[in-house]
Amino acid sequence: MDQEIREALAAEFSQFFEDEETSTECVISCGDGWTPLIHDLCTKLEALLPQPELHFSSMREMQGTLRISATLPTDEIANLVKETERKSEHTCEICGEPGRLHGGKNDKLMVRCNICWSNYIEA
Ligand SMILES: [Zn+2]
Repeated sequence: MDQEIREALAAEFSQFFEDEETSTECVISCGDGWTPLIHDLCTKLEALLPQPELHFSSMREMQGTLRISATLPTDEIANLVKETERKSEHTCEICGEPGRLHGGKNDKLMVRCNICWSNYIEA
């Protein structure tokens, strides 16, 4: 993910991305196309009352889709996180357009829209 985008996200939702007690920050390692999914998730979490004591430890692309590691205090939060992970199965990791899971070079799995997929196989 672009560093500027990552920093903006972490700053807007610092309560979820930084754990002051342990001074750790969430590791984000995925494409920019999933930024809206993460932003959406954080907005929903922020709207919960009482606001959850929740910290993400990592968000990364794994086996082609988004995997989020976090403390999950309630089922409701676990479901919101799972829903976000599921959306990444149909959202291009590069540009955020609708996409699907493809098997790329060296069996690497990735979610791409048609355009990003053609760019990838022609590269
Ligand atoms: Zn795309």
